[in-house]
Amino acid sequence: MAIERWRPRQGFTKQEEMLLRRLLRTRKLFAFLRDQRHELFDDGFQAELESMYRGTGAGASPVPPALLAMSTLLQCYHGVSDAEAVELTVVDLRWQMVLDRIGSADAAFAQDTLREFRERLIRTGMDRRLLERTVEFARRTKAFDWKKVPKDLRVAIDSSPLEGAGRVEDTVNLLAHAARKVVMCAADLLNWPIEKVATAAGIPLLLQSSVKKALDLEWSDPDAKAQAVDTLARQLDSLEAWLREKLSEEMKKPPLKEHVDTLAQIRTQDLEPDPSGGGKTRIHQGVAAERRVSIEDADMRHGRKSKTKLFNGYKRHIALDLDTDLIVAGAITPANRPEEEAAPLLKADIDEMQRRIGELHIDRGYIASTVVDAVIADGGEVICKPWVPRNGKLFTKADFKINMRDMTITCPAGEVERIDLGADVEFDARTCARCALRPQCTTAAPDAGRSVTIADNERLQHRLRKLIATPRGRRRLRERVPVEHSLAHVGRRQSRRARYRGTRKNLFDLRRTAAVQNLETIDRRLAGATNKNLRRAA
Ligand code: SF4
Repeated sequence: MAIERWRPRQGFTKQEEMLLRRLLRTRKLFAFLRDQRHELFDDGFQAELESMYRGTGAGASPVPPALLAMSTLLQCYHGVSDAEAVELTVVDLRWQMVLDRIGSADAAFAQDTLREFRERLIRTGMDRRLLERTVEFARRTKAFDWKKVPKDLRVAIDSSPLEGAGRVEDTVNLLAHAARKVVMCAADLLNWPIEKVATAAGIPLLLQSSVKKALDLEWSDPDAKAQAVDTLARQLDSLEAWLREKLSEEMKKPPLKEHVDTLAQIRTQDLEPDPSGGGKTRIHQGVAAERRVSIEDADMRHGRKSKTKLFNGYKRHIALDLDTDLIVAGAITPANRPEEEAAPLLKADIDEMQRRIGELHIDRGYIASTVVDAVIADGGEVICKPWVPRNGKLFTKADFKINMRDMTITCPAGEVERIDLGADVEFDARTCARCALRPQCTTAAPDAGRSVTIADNERLQHRLRKLIATPRGRRRLRERVPVEHSLAHVGRRQSRRARYRGTRKNLFDLRRTAAVQNLETIDRRLAGATNKNLRRAA
């Protein structure tokens, strides 16, 4: 079956002209997409979208992929579900106009078609191309003065929290939730009622709607709580023994394996043998680094907005081209992962665009990334606030003069030592012992001198310290501010809470959101350029 190409009309009907006039103030992107749809989805890009389907056309959607891609963007712009998107192709004139379906009484596609298209975008990585396409598209417009835009990218990176879509539960509820999934799956496989499985497997706690209701105890009493956890653990043991006896083969393959593995993961991370003995089990003391917090979304993790504020889910990261305000890459990482892990993901997408990073503007969270070394090795520049050295009321590293050319360090009393990258330097103990400044410098033992840590990347730190010391340097540090604004817009559009479960689906959503934001930027810039020309002509 040949894949149908989308060939929307180019000229405007009277009804469309009336609609476009109404879209001058609000929801302007509908008008922009109607006007530019041929350019955005030209033959070349439509062919790429069609390549997501096998050469034979088998499995191809009856709806042109470009129309589905446009609908995917509209869905993000409008912030609606798949079901609503289907309805809007019938009841909303703006959707109908952009999709070239004005007057159609039928939906443009089925809900499953849109979902299947999204999954195909994700499987083939074409969601990255969709974002990249908006950057390519911008280059064909007069939205920017391209002669003035540097060849190499000046990129700024930033991140914000994205609350996960899965329900976060405490240990008891997580275990019960995971066990209930196992029991339901076993009941399906055996074609038994769930109650019969729970009874036969020796886990009657699942017979109630809530395991806490079934345990019926005073949760503020630590002894009662410990007893409840032990009771639940024993019933989980019983369930596992019953599964091994009754469904040993099914336990090794999906779908039961997946549920059994989840239950085992929660048990391992949240429970441990009670050291008081008696074969008892208690809740794990402390939090496992990779603790799973939700049954429905396996990728969500605990994260921190600040020292005191916690959140559960993900961090979204964007890379913004500072010369065009276009987002060139997006990344999603679990909330517990450090920022530096996202930078290689963003750079991989920029590499795919065959663009070089000339300047990388980051905050300190990304400084330990391998991308920093790669950019410097490639002749690029890294702009970041330097570390703030702390040492209580004593002299900090900033009070010492480091000379990277001579590889020496001079203390406040004028003593000089040689330095090596990645090694601590210690001043002569006898000199420090005699020094009048010692009370302000060190609390080291009398037979030891003051030591200062010299980092592996001391050259970079040294350059950044010099940068912040000058007005011009501070101005350059402020150049990354647009990425904060852009990220705030992305956050408002994508929402504080994730639409999907799992890292990959949320990455799709971020890339799609960034694509819509880029299109708005292009529209705004084009409108600005037109107004400027009109003013010049007047
Ligand atoms: S205590 Fe040692 S390192 Fe500190 S100022 Fe005196 S001589 Fe220098």
